Amino acid sequence: MNPKALFQEALELGTPKPTPASLWGGGAWAFALAGASYRDLVASPDLVAQAITSANEKVSSAVVFVGSGFTNFPIAALGASLEFKEKGAPALVGQAVADLAQVDQLDLGRLDADQALQTLQRAAALVKEAIGATAYVTSISWAPFTFAGRLYGMDRLMTALVDDPKGVEALLERAAEAVFRYHLPYLEAGSVDGVAMADPMASGDVISRRHFQQFAQPYLAKVTQRFAECGCPVLLHICGRTDDRLDLIADAGVKGFFLDHRVDLAKALEVVRGRMCIGGNVDPVDVLARGTVDDVVQAARACLETAGDGGGYVLTPGCDIPPDVPLANVQALIRTAIGA
Ligand SMILES: [Zn+2]
Repeated sequence: MNPKALFQEALELGTPKPTPASLWGGGAWAFALAGASYRDLVASPDLVAQAITSANEKVSSAVVFVGSGFTNFPIAALGASLEFKEKGAPALVGQAVADLAQVDQLDLGRLDADQALQTLQRAAALVKEAIGATAYVTSISWAPFTFAGRLYGMDRLMTALVDDPKGVEALLERAAEAVFRYHLPYLEAGSVDGVAMADPMASGDVISRRHFQQFAQPYLAKVTQRFAECGCPVLLHICGRTDDRLDLIADAGVKGFFLDHRVDLAKALEVVRGRMCIGGNVDPVDVLARGTVDDVVQAARACLETAGDGGGYVLTPGCDIPPDVPLANVQALIRTAIGA
């Protein structure tokens, strides 16, 4: 079976043999491998698609994430600015929402008109055409809570969770709508198999379970439901600790959750096995970026021994991988699972 078919079986909670293996994100890594700058990438669907397909020809990740490395671009489309740098993804400058009382004035039509976002949409169609038979193609964005934090400023959002919960809820409604609208053109074009979202600000390292339940989960569930109605599964990654909220993530309807390396894989499986597919969770920095091929193989084997036999599992790094991860280490990770 090809990587995509293996992954789809795991997503349906089956136990494919061999176990599928995938990156999470990987955009910045693929662009570094191609030696492409964001300034050039953002103007060229061909360049984006080539970087993604050529990286995947080398590593055979079961899932590819079109838009990885560009997750702040929809925030910029809605009114913030981007500062391009010599290396790496551009930095987000300023806020798209200055005042929670003015959330209604946020013009989501700007997402449809934005040139950079159109570049990514065309790139997804090219990627789907080139490798869509063997790779599961997704579009990727922030999930609503982190999207809202980027729109309004994360520090200000944290304060407002306590001082102005109603204002925050209005912002989150708008953010959830923006996230759905961001992905919709990909769904309509049939250029993706699923939707991926990252929610680093919904981590147990950042907000309590109670705040997660009040502010993050309802909006995550809402967009996930809307994607499901379009026949589109949702994959999610949250950085850091999520042990105390895995049940809530499964309740939100997420099909595949990619665990951070700091979460105990065996314990996570005890909580959610049979409810959602779990990806995880080789340390992206200490093992993949700084370790040897042998270190990667050992870490991957440990994950496979823990999780490989019970169904609904895909071997992945515990987060997006840094741009300087050696190609041989990514290849070793994937090969350890598929036995190539
Ligand atoms: Zn992460």
